Amino acid sequence: MIRIAIDGPGGAGKSTIARRVAGALGLDYIDTGAMYRAIGLAAMQKKTDLKDDHQVARLLSESRIDFHDEKIFLDEKDVSAAIRTPEAADMASRVSAIPAVRDKLIALQRAMGQNRNVVMDGRDIGTNVLKDAEVKIYLTATPKERARRRYEELLSKGKQADYDAVLQAIEKRDHADMTRAVDPLRKAADAKELDTTNMSIEEVVAAITKEAEPWQ
Ligand code: C5P
Repeated sequence: MIRIAIDGPGGAGKSTIARRVAGALGLDYIDTGAMYRAIGLAAMQKKTDLKDDHQVARLLSESRIDFHDEKIFLDEKDVSAAIRTPEAADMASRVSAIPAVRDKLIALQRAMGQNRNVVMDGRDIGTNVLKDAEVKIYLTATPKERARRRYEELLSKGKQADYDAVLQAIEKRDHADMTRAVDPLRKAADAKELDTTNMSIEEVVAAITKEAEPWQ
C-alpha cells in the first residue's frame, strides 16, 4: 500500500504534479482543495452567512460532494470549472478556516484514502489527514514564481489577469492559510521539501516517484 501526501502553498504546482505522479505510478488522485472550493462555491450560491454556525451547519448537511473520473460534483452538478475562479479560491480559503467545515471534509478525505493507493494533495495531508502516509512531500516555490504560474494559467484559459493582483491574492491566501488556528499550512517534520522554483514538471515528478520507489 502506498499513500503519497503532497502539501504546499497555492501555485506551487501541487495538482499538476500530483496528477502526473498518480498517472505514472497507477494511483488514484484526490484533490482536497477542490472540496474546499466546492463548499466555498455552495456558500456563495446559497449566500450563507459564514459567521452564523447554524447556517454553516445547514450548508454542510445540504451540500453533497462527489468525485467521478477526477471531476468534482456539488449536489450532482459538475462544478470542476466553476471552482477555478479567483472568487472561489478566496471563498475556499475562508470556509477552510471554519472548524465544522474542516471536520466534515477531513472525515470524507480519510474515508477516501482508506485502504487505497492514492496521491492526495492539500495543505494538511501530511500533518493531519494522512499522518501515516508512506511518502510526504512539501512543495514550495517563491511567491513571485507561483504568481507567474497562476497568471500564465489564467491567460492560457483566455481570462483577463493582472500579475500584481495575482501576486497580492497569493500572498494574502498564504498568510491566511499559514496563520489560521485550525490545521495551518506547515511542513510535516517527516516531509521531504522540494523547492520547484527552478525545476521542470518532469524533474519534480521524477523526484517524487523516486521517493515512492521503496513501496513499489
Ligand atoms: O489547493 P487549492 O488552491 O485548490 O485550495 C483552495 C483553498 O482550500 C486553500 O487556499 C486552503 O485555504 C484550502 N485548503 C485547505 N486544506 C486542504 C486543501 C485546501 O485548507 N487540505
